[in-house]
Amino acid sequence: MVREVRIAHRTGFCYGVREAIDKAKESAAAGKLTHTLGQVVHNEGVINDLQQLGVRSVDSLDDVDSGAAVVIRAHGVKPEVFERAETRGLDVIDGTCTWVIQEQRQLQELVDEGYTIVLLGTPKHPEVVGLLGFAPDAIVVDEEADWSRIPRRKRMALITQSTQPPWKFEQLAAFMVSRAHELKIVNTVCPVTIRRQEDTLETARGVDLMVVVGGRHSANTKELTRLCEIAGTKAIQIENAKDLVDPAPFEAAQVVGVTGGTSTPIEDLRDVAERIITIAGTPEMQPRAAELAREALDAAATPAGRTTSLPELKVAAGAA
Ligand code: SF4
Repeated sequence: MVREVRIAHRTGFCYGVREAIDKAKESAAAGKLTHTLGQVVHNEGVINDLQQLGVRSVDSLDDVDSGAAVVIRAHGVKPEVFERAETRGLDVIDGTCTWVIQEQRQLQELVDEGYTIVLLGTPKHPEVVGLLGFAPDAIVVDEEADWSRIPRRKRMALITQSTQPPWKFEQLAAFMVSRAHELKIVNTVCPVTIRRQEDTLETARGVDLMVVVGGRHSANTKELTRLCEIAGTKAIQIENAKDLVDPAPFEAAQVVGVTGGTSTPIEDLRDVAERIITIAGTPEMQPRAAELAREALDAAATPAGRTTSLPELKVAAGAA
């Protein structure tokens, strides 16, 4: 039976996702018809919140009314998307994460310097699609099976999608040493990803079971699950609290840890903590599930884990 639930530190939205969501909210609160190009984050609660404010996600610029505001999400887009939006007279709000902007610039420099570029990333991931707008000839590789496609060239450069695991980047860099006479390595693994992995590992080492919360297809969430298992702690991966219905996995666990991917609001981790206590906590804990979950959240939440950068009044005004 569970007698304690801990939430990993430095979880919640990464600053890139948070800022893009805030930009969409600010635009809507200012009375502008606002769309986001693609879902800002694959999280049902966040999408519902934005819809309440009138923010609608569209798949294509063609679905945005002329003159309306369109928010570019944290992953960024190809430069042509900005050009097309301007031609259509849209009010473009650039929510591209500053780290991704820096990555795009570095990639452009590698192109200008004439390197054959290898990009470690998930081929259809929006960040990778955007990056390829700066380096259309870059060779995208993901798992080790892809690496045999990397040619031998005199001057090669390696760069990565921000959320790739650092160990994979290091292994690929080592592999590429034998493929090039000159190898330039630009480490663009996002520090937020690294910190989250460190704190997840630390939590996993001190508990009997981990619950990892995030999108089913989210690479950074899957990586957290894998890390917990490397730490020797069994992990259950779920999308949200509603997925927890069966107390059986918690039977042998006394202390449970909760962590989440970069697109998971920290409040979702609190809801998961509450759900764990409700279905598997000791009889003394169960009636206090909400209060104990809030305490776990307070112990974990730092400014880095906050869900919004907007002053409370402003959000309230937009929501009204
Ligand atoms: S994971 Fe890092 S690079 Fe990606 S959006 Fe978040 S802060 Fe930006």
